[in-house]
Amino acid sequence: MTSLTIKPQSLDRSTKEKSQGVELLAPAGDFEKLKVALSYGADAVYLGGEAFGLRSAAGNFSLNEIERAVAFAHKLNRKVYLTLNTFPNNYEIDETAQYIKCLKEIALDAIIIADPGVFLLVKELTDHPIHLSTQASVTHVEAVKFWVKQGVSRIVLGREVSIDEVKAIKDQCDVELEMFIHGSMCMSYSGKCTISNYTANRDANRGGCVNSCRWDYSLSTLTDNVSFTQSYIMNSRDLWAVDSVSGMIADGVDSLKLEGRMKSHLYLATTVSIYRQIIDSCLDNGSIEDSDRSRWVNQLNAIPNRGFSTGFLEGQAERESILYDNVKPNGKSNYIGVVKEVGDDFILLQVKNRFFLGDSIKFLTFTGEEIMVQVDKIQDISREHIPEAKPNSLVFLKKVPDIKAYNVALY
Ligand code: SF4
Repeated sequence: MTSLTIKPQSLDRSTKEKSQGVELLAPAGDFEKLKVALSYGADAVYLGGEAFGLRSAAGNFSLNEIERAVAFAHKLNRKVYLTLNTFPNNYEIDETAQYIKCLKEIALDAIIIADPGVFLLVKELTDHPIHLSTQASVTHVEAVKFWVKQGVSRIVLGREVSIDEVKAIKDQCDVELEMFIHGSMCMSYSGKCTISNYTANRDANRGGCVNSCRWDYSLSTLTDNVSFTQSYIMNSRDLWAVDSVSGMIADGVDSLKLEGRMKSHLYLATTVSIYRQIIDSCLDNGSIEDSDRSRWVNQLNAIPNRGFSTGFLEGQAERESILYDNVKPNGKSNYIGVVKEVGDDFILLQVKNRFFLGDSIKFLTFTGEEIMVQVDKIQDISREHIPEAKPNSLVFLKKVPDIKAYNVALY
């Protein structure tokens, strides 16, 4: 059974916002996620390389994979930025320089740095454009001018900057500005934090954060014995910008960035698809329709989240930005899997969560519509009929019109 009208969508869609100067920038945690992000309409992706002892960490690209990722994206006229925004120790600086030398011949669209020394190395050893990471904590016009003088081509503003402040900065500086619009927020200043280092021996500066800030803590004063009843005192709600994108575009923000290299294909597909539609709607009409807004809000609430806040976008982040009483994220883990291949008579699905014969599942198309399907056939990789699809397996399902490779499936 299928429902809804589907507009065909191909991977090589031409994005109107490109010509109008607003970029939707998505995380690419691995090669498959890169394809998902581009398929759902991202103009550019950012990814991490295997440097600074992160070779074994999941989701980082080897040099060879970075080359392949760049070639893949460029064929689609999209961009790839490499994040190199750690703060190396002195004993790592030679390795850093060696690594940067290796990047020279890869046709990256930019390297994202935070550390002034790494900036100098990238400038000396490559010809790549340089973006300044949000972790450099640029929050005002004089800091922007400083970095523009050094030669960066884009600044990812500190998360503490409001949309009103962006306009003032943009009016005085001729440089690309990028801002986060969706995803997890840190309690620390522009993401500089060592809570995870202290509590779990995992270096947040190297992508190892275990979200220690979201654990339950007790807090009391020794002098007058006052204790705070709320436990999750640093559990920041997630950022969203459903109602802020039109203002950001009007104020001249060049790139709108989604957080979440480690998050699921479903998170990536949903957020890219929704913000793609929001940006297109704002460019076409200057705003979004109430009916569309309700649908997008429902979709964002349906996937795991910590509740939402506009963070600092509309002014100071206040008490409402913290989720004080929630142990688990809101939303459900309703992610079923990602389509690996579509053949003449089959869909090959990489299963992430179990489902059964007879279940009703949905596919999210590249235009953001959901196609409901009743599962009336599941075959394992040997084409044997089976009653359930188990996590981490590949299964064949009956072909459904308009479903394409890299579509995600959900309950
Ligand atoms: S522990 Fe929390 S505040 Fe620190 S880096 Fe991780 S998410 Fe950010």
